[in-house]
Amino acid sequence: TCGALSTQRRDGPETAVRSGREAEMRDLSGKVAFITGGASGIGLGMAKAFSRAGMKVVVVDIRDDHRAAAEETLARGGAEFHLIKLDVADREAWSRAADEAERVFSRIHVLCNNAGIGVLTPIAQATWEDWDWLLGVNLGGVIIGVTTVLPRIRAHGEGGHVMATASLGGITVAGNGGVYSTAKFGVVAMMECLREDLAAEDIGVTVLCPSAVNTNIHDHGDRRPERYRVDSSDLGPHDAGLDPEMLKGMLASFGSDPLEVGRQVLHAIRHDQPYVFTERM
Ligand code: NAD
Repeated sequence: TCGALSTQRRDGPETAVRSGREAEMRDLSGKVAFITGGASGIGLGMAKAFSRAGMKVVVVDIRDDHRAAAEETLARGGAEFHLIKLDVADREAWSRAADEAERVFSRIHVLCNNAGIGVLTPIAQATWEDWDWLLGVNLGGVIIGVTTVLPRIRAHGEGGHVMATASLGGITVAGNGGVYSTAKFGVVAMMECLREDLAAEDIGVTVLCPSAVNTNIHDHGDRRPERYRVDSSDLGPHDAGLDPEMLKGMLASFGSDPLEVGRQVLHAIRHDQPYVFTERM
């Protein structure tokens, strides 16, 4: 069985299964999700979709402006939520954030390692600052998240789920910038290994590989290191020489809706599916 997360069995072709385990339909109502990068884009889409399904959400984000906007949106939608400021690359701060989440909602059932930065620096032009920033957040943040929260999920013994947002750039190198792709390949590898490690436990693992989603991924705000703060006439090597405004416009015109992606992730957690791919390229 899948602990308290599973209340109903369901048979059918759409129900994916972890190896050696029967298909389960999980009732997530009342369960607690901890979502990094939860105040914008895909993370906020998940927070909305999860709370509409009766879950409680801990929305974790580094940006004050994103958290303020998310607070308004979630409150308007009647969500049961708690906001925490956290830099996912900060190891000590993670323990404090997890403590705070457990103080407020008593436990965490679903960990969503979603925070990420979309700077598309090619490897040949990458500096140490690029590697530190992108690997620290996009891969390091996932490593610290799992290391901090997984033992807590296990300790509660109620089952649970770990998801991570990778990218199509985590399974193919086309057009994503080598530093970003290196981090995202790492996320996919780590989640694959984790799924194997947890095969005998009541804890599922899902990787989201979005293609294009209409979010703020190309807006780095005040977190952007000095060398990225350029005007669009001086693009340099970062973002593969692409104008962030142009990239943003592209996502707005053909990117998937973040709420729809949040619903897809919810479905994948319920049905214990290992991967989610977004619809549009
Ligand atoms: P977004 O910028 O709208 O949301 C990301 C959130 O993460 C932001 O609120 C940001 O403040 C937060 N964040 C950034 N660095 C952080 C840090 N160090 N600590 C805590 N929070 C931090 O972008 P999004 O598209 O929703 O991004 C979510 C995930 O999706 C990322 O991992 C990204 O790489 C991935 N992704 C997005 C796309 C896309 O097309 N939007 C495609 C592939 C993968």
